[in-house]
Amino acid sequence: MKRPKSKEFRKQQRLSEEDEINLLNSWIQAQQPDSGTNPMSLPPLPKTSPIGRLADNTFSRYAGVVRFEQLPLSKKTKDALRASKFVSMTDIQRASLPHALCGRDVLGAAKTGSGKTLAFIIPVLEKLYRERWEPEYGVGSIIISPTRELAAQIFDVLKAIGKYHGFSAGLLIGGRKEVALEKESVNKLNVLICTPGRLLQHMDETTNFDCSQLQVLVLDEADRILDSGFKKELNAIISQLPKRRQTLLFSATQTKSVQDLARLSLKDPEYLSVHEESVTATPTLLKQIVMTVPLDQKLDMLWSFIKTHLQSKTLVFLSSCKQVKFVFEAFKKLHPGIPLKCLHGRMKQEKRMAIYSEFCEKRSVLFSTDVAARGLDFNKAVDWVVQVDCPENVASYIHRVGRTARYKSDGKSVLFLLPSETQMLEKLKAAKVPVHLTKPRKELLQPVSSLLASLLVKYPELQQRAQRAFVTYLRSIHLQKDKEIFDVLKLPIDEYSASLGLPMTPKIRFLNRNIKSKAVSTKSILVEPEGRNKENVLEGSKGKPSTVVFKDEETENDLLHVADTSNEGNMTSTEIEGLVPATRLLKKKKLKINLHRPLGNRVVFDDDGNKLPPLATIADPQSGKGTSIIDPEQKAEYYKRMREDLKKADKEDKLVERQRLREKRIKQKMKWKGGDEDEEDNQDDISGSEGDETVNRRQKKSKIYFDSDSDEGERKEASRDQLAEQEALALKLLQSMQA
Ligand code: ADP
Ligand code: MG
Repeated sequence: MKRPKSKEFRKQQRLSEEDEINLLNSWIQAQQPDSGTNPMSLPPLPKTSPIGRLADNTFSRYAGVVRFEQLPLSKKTKDALRASKFVSMTDIQRASLPHALCGRDVLGAAKTGSGKTLAFIIPVLEKLYRERWEPEYGVGSIIISPTRELAAQIFDVLKAIGKYHGFSAGLLIGGRKEVALEKESVNKLNVLICTPGRLLQHMDETTNFDCSQLQVLVLDEADRILDSGFKKELNAIISQLPKRRQTLLFSATQTKSVQDLARLSLKDPEYLSVHEESVTATPTLLKQIVMTVPLDQKLDMLWSFIKTHLQSKTLVFLSSCKQVKFVFEAFKKLHPGIPLKCLHGRMKQEKRMAIYSEFCEKRSVLFSTDVAARGLDFNKAVDWVVQVDCPENVASYIHRVGRTARYKSDGKSVLFLLPSETQMLEKLKAAKVPVHLTKPRKELLQPVSSLLASLLVKYPELQQRAQRAFVTYLRSIHLQKDKEIFDVLKLPIDEYSASLGLPMTPKIRFLNRNIKSKAVSTKSILVEPEGRNKENVLEGSKGKPSTVVFKDEETENDLLHVADTSNEGNMTSTEIEGLVPATRLLKKKKLKINLHRPLGNRVVFDDDGNKLPPLATIADPQSGKGTSIIDPEQKAEYYKRMREDLKKADKEDKLVERQRLREKRIKQKMKWKGGDEDEEDNQDDISGSEGDETVNRRQKKSKIYFDSDSDEGERKEASRDQLAEQEALALKLLQSMQA
């Protein structure tokens, strides 16, 4: 049923701009919701009751208002909203817009994908409109985002909703060449959407950069902008902004810290957390599963996942750029049968943007660091979020999985936890994140380690990537703050190295001696049989529904199913065969690999000519369900043999390759000196804890503001300082290990 249009609305249709603004001002003034109320929580009014007067005498003219059209918004904004098919408001929009429109500071918290962007874009446009802002008035609003991709996405929303207004807006993000151009135009822009680093660069370098008239400051992903990673930049920015302004903060994981808020000098902020009462902290349509996966089986699991979800759009999170690069390059060479892409902070900006929009459009697998963890709304829905490496904390988990199940769509996510990381499960549950513990169907696992080993022999460059991925992963675990979850000494280092296809465990310069000496004494922990760990964890999941099976709708694969041993073996062999379609491409690739393999005795076929997983020959057929299928000792022995074989085989190749690499490195160095490198390969990076952006900052302290956005232009500087800084870091780590 259509609600009758309000008197104000009908009047608005007939007015000139000036009259409209007067009407809006008095409309907003008259309808101010009481401070501290959530206008949305007030139930719709019965037709007969006096407008806005509720049983408990709370007053809200907005009670029962559900459509944008019913709000005191300019016709220009309303028309644009309608043109973009935004009709009904989401909860956070209903709760925060009435407060934000009357100029109050707002701290908005609502689940991922619940429409927070419009909740700040609309008040920004309306404020400037009602102030009759002209292009020559300069900067009227600044919107800060932690990443470039998110800034670009907000910019798109602003363009769509502000299309009938006459404001100028600019996207100021790092990594773009047009700084000079930006400097010329920045003073003519009314709305700036920026990353902290680039904004500060302009504040410091652009002559006459003036934001003294700023009306509205917005921090999207506010808790991220306020955390230690951006502290220096943000403090410097805030110190240059006028105190009299409106401030809007939004995030799915909002900060309530008085200290943080004091930095922003908020005035009686309205704290609107619309999902606080909600049973879950994540979207209701998101199905979330967790699996314990031993470190040396993570890649097997990821590969098997991809192979059994070829019809899905999947976003895979790994802990560092190095991990992303290695897994992406290696898997690409193995042709899984779905396009693969990668995204991380060390790519050129144009490439980053291109990958981002390609992933929006096409079904594919995107390997990413946390650079894609926050805010991004991939417009054609993501089906699966796979977290291969454990996120640094619960907030990070919530943002990563929040890339799927956005607005009214559903989505699925899976988190791989090491047996030593199962504490995370408790933390997730405590934070109202409904996760189901699931056990992989081992019979569907498609081991990839042996394929990787062959690849690494064939492509020594890939071997280098594998080594870097290995070292960076260990370092990222070592640097994690939450020591209850992350313990580098509990990791099966040799097995992990072998699982990446490496012929031998690389030396970990900064940790090696310490880890090795401790690792020997804790060997029993390191190679704890998987079965035992899993059983321990399963106990924690008692009481969970055990019949839920999350299937990939298109392929009906269920590599993952909720832990329930009674389900095992339910599939017939034909069903299983149907689930593991080997693509022609892959077969071809396998043949190719076999041709060049240094040794011919590793691939094993069964009676029907099917290739057996390399570990199948040593699988223990006696072991029961829920326990390890592979005898750990035999496995260790197998890995040892495999390593020795490979070591022998690639010795000569290595010599040649070493020479080639040396030449390449020299060339690359020359290129760096000349500037203009694309990606910084020799720099260890860990994005697991604070995302790509922070790591760059940490390593390039001397240039704090340019690089907070991983500004490629600054990388030259960084590489020069890099060695000294890495040494300093290594020393620090060593000291902390010894302490
Ligand atoms: P959040 O910032 O809360 O994670 P977004 O602002 O990115 O969420 O919005 C998520 C999705 O919901 C976007 O695709 C957006 O276009 C859509 N959306 C937001 N508000 C509405 C609305 N009122 N009606 C329909 N779709 C909406
Ligand atoms: Mg958002």
